[in-house]
Amino acid sequence: MNDAELQVWIERISLEFFGIPFRHRARFNPRLRSTGGRYFLKSHDIEISPYQLQAHGPEEVEKIIKHELCHYHLHLQKRGYQHRDPEFKALLEQVGGSRFCKNLPTTIQPKRKTEPYRYKLICELCGMSYLRKRRIDPRRYACGKCQGRLQLYSIKGT
Ligand SMILES: [Zn+2]
Ligand SMILES: [Zn+2]
Repeated sequence: MNDAELQVWIERISLEFFGIPFRHRARFNPRLRSTGGRYFLKSHDIEISPYQLQAHGPEEVEKIIKHELCHYHLHLQKRGYQHRDPEFKALLEQVGGSRFCKNLPTTIQPKRKTEPYRYKLICELCGMSYLRKRRIDPRRYACGKCQGRLQLYSIKGT
């Protein structure tokens, strides 16, 4: 699904469940990882995480869209558009929106663990050492300082 299809989808949900058109822009934002969707107070645009669609399918995304549309319509009508507002809670329940913006499973969170250095290249001539994460062929490289030959050692305990 692309941004244009998302736009049409949100416009349809808006008319069907809220009876009011969605007149701003909708797009997928791949940087939305911990959040399913986002409503922008200034531009009135809505962004949806593409990972939600991959992980949970269109039914779950429809609930997120309804959630963002609750923010959208209430905000434009100058009513209580925040999560804690009774009007927001009531409208959310009425249209069947998801209660939280955040419901991504942890499995599709980005991997933050950095790889340890497992190898060390040491120059035979000047003793300069270089750390490497992956095994490489030392014959294909030379010391950056003196162009000397390098020896590969694995670092123990990692
Ligand atoms: Zn929200
Ligand atoms: Zn060297």
